[in-house]
Amino acid sequence: MAKRMLSEFESYDLLKQYGVPVPDHIIVKTAAEAARAAEKIGFPVVMKIHSPQIVHKSDAGGVMVSIGSAQAAQEAFDKIVGNAKAYNPEAEIRGVIVEQQAAPGLELIIGGKTDPAFGKVLTFGMGGTLVELMRDVTLRILPVTEEAIREMIREIHGYPMIKGYRGAKPRDEETLVQVMWAVNRFFAENTNVVEFDINPVRLYESGACIVDARIFIDDEAVEKTVKERPFVPIEYFTPRSIAVIGASSEPKKMGYAVMHNLLHFPGQLYPVNNKRPEVQGLKAYPSILDIPNPVDMAVITVPAKHVPSVIEECGQKGVSMAVIITAGFKEMGEGGKALEDRVLEIAKGYGTRIVGPNCLGLIVPPKGIDTTYVHESPKPGNIAFISQSGAIINTVVDWSIAQDIGFSAVISVGNQADLNFIDYLRFVERDPKTKGIILYIEEVQDGKTFMKVVSEVAKTKPVVAIKSGSSQKGQQAASSHTGSLSGSYDVYMEAFRESGVIPVHTLTGTFQVAEMLALPKGYPRGKRAVVITNAGGFAVLSSDYAERYGIDLITLPPKVLKELNDLLPEFWNKNNPIDLLGDANEKRFDQVFSVLAKHQDCWDIAFVVGFPNLVIGSDQLANQIIRFSERTENMIVGTLLGGGSMERGRKILKENGIPIFDELDFTFRVMGRILWQRFR
Ligand code: ADP
Ligand code: MG
Repeated sequence: MAKRMLSEFESYDLLKQYGVPVPDHIIVKTAAEAARAAEKIGFPVVMKIHSPQIVHKSDAGGVMVSIGSAQAAQEAFDKIVGNAKAYNPEAEIRGVIVEQQAAPGLELIIGGKTDPAFGKVLTFGMGGTLVELMRDVTLRILPVTEEAIREMIREIHGYPMIKGYRGAKPRDEETLVQVMWAVNRFFAENTNVVEFDINPVRLYESGACIVDARIFIDDEAVEKTVKERPFVPIEYFTPRSIAVIGASSEPKKMGYAVMHNLLHFPGQLYPVNNKRPEVQGLKAYPSILDIPNPVDMAVITVPAKHVPSVIEECGQKGVSMAVIITAGFKEMGEGGKALEDRVLEIAKGYGTRIVGPNCLGLIVPPKGIDTTYVHESPKPGNIAFISQSGAIINTVVDWSIAQDIGFSAVISVGNQADLNFIDYLRFVERDPKTKGIILYIEEVQDGKTFMKVVSEVAKTKPVVAIKSGSSQKGQQAASSHTGSLSGSYDVYMEAFRESGVIPVHTLTGTFQVAEMLALPKGYPRGKRAVVITNAGGFAVLSSDYAERYGIDLITLPPKVLKELNDLLPEFWNKNNPIDLLGDANEKRFDQVFSVLAKHQDCWDIAFVVGFPNLVIGSDQLANQIIRFSERTENMIVGTLLGGGSMERGRKILKENGIPIFDELDFTFRVMGRILWQRFR
């Protein structure tokens, strides 16, 4: 067993070297020694069991506090040892720790764990015995800066307790920063420290002291680092000739559907089938080697056991990319893994790159490429969708057709034996057609490299992600008890936040966010928002949603108020949301929009909310919104609520590249996700 726990006193000694304040302590083996140690340290003392098998000492009756005399220390020794033996007769009792009793203080927790994808993570939160109950924790992925530590302290819900709540004196935040910094250095500099928790850290009006520490060591631990991956040439994704190996004429077969979807491919298409001279109207070849012309891409649907020999032939033929749709590899366990490794080995020898296996492959609608068996190929557009689930691709593509959403690329990553999320991100980053990127992620293989690459990509194109596994159940297996009050999902969320990725919880939501950011104005410049509506009810709901999704509605500056007063009926609400009232006509909208455009430095986002009424038609309102958007650099977001009568307005806005919603909650929720990413 490589992983072991250090005892409390070993932990203290280690942390002390980094300048973490720890109580004075002495290990004793007898009651008489306990009495002498207690006198030496000074009363009162705390005494605790020292046993490698007892992780939670209080649970074992192994902690006694406020011991005030030598006599009491002797008795405590026997009591603690007795309790520990009763709790776990197998436990090896190495002695008892006698330690200085720290004054009561605000109890906090500092923890660390090693995430399987992203490596070391520092956690911080409200500590003490209620820590599991409160779950008020935050985290950062290492390396961590001092500024990040300051942010962590300020972002827990319990922060007011540190800052001084309701007349209480503030706690020593600066010392806390220094302690966390020291702990962070200790964690970062010791590769073999894989997990720890310091609970509690007691924070005082002046100073701090830790009164417990558990550190787990794994001498075989290896540090996670960023790995360089050379770019896959973009032409690999846009072949001029494609061979379908396993192409079939029988409609129920995978090789049929794949071939069928490729019939529209404008380049050369070659079915390979060793039993038929012709497949779906095209001349078929017994093997890829029989094709007289060069082949750029091979799509493989033959049974798994034949894939190694097929890949061998692809290599000989000089195929640059092989899309292996066939399943039955790593996902099937040991045997499948061995087969996958063999395929990879052969491909490497020829420099052939592999998509999959166990995937749907690629769809590049602008190039007429569709290697999948989706029911109907999606339309060309500007969204790239990269997914770890084939079923989700089928669903999204089917849905996109009715929604009139188009794609620059759809990629099913499969087992990611060779090409993985990172390579696909690099492709869509450089693909000129792609304006927005959506990822469906179950897990990433190499979190550090993923973060580096995705943060570069997100600088030029919006990246939106939906990550499965947020439920407690979904995570149970992965999380261990100590130091990891945050599960792996939280680590992903933090990785996304740090690298510019926008996490969204629903598939439709991912498209709403990506499509909005793919529009010409892209991201909002800031988070200060105004709402303009002609409906009192929606003004109130807008405030509610704005608050719920973390969007700041600004207080209108006096100069703006004054100008609006001159325009609007006397009894207007003089507030943000700006309620133009139900009788607002085109002219009133136009005038108010002019005032806001003139004062565009006061705000960053304007939400315009319209509803069906007789004074202003949805097309008239839409045209006013377009004019407004033309008059400002700021972001204008339309929400036209209602049924068919508002459809015209929505269509006009969509055609003019203005974000448009038909459900008010979505408007604010989508913006809330974007602002969380940019301005949290
Ligand atoms: P456990 O293994 O159960 O977490 P701890 O060492 O954290 O054991 O002790 C349990 C509790 O006893 C602590 O949460 C703290 O409230 C109190 N305690 C422990 N050590 C000290 C100390 N040196 N000074 C003051 N209180 C202490
Ligand atoms: Mg403890």
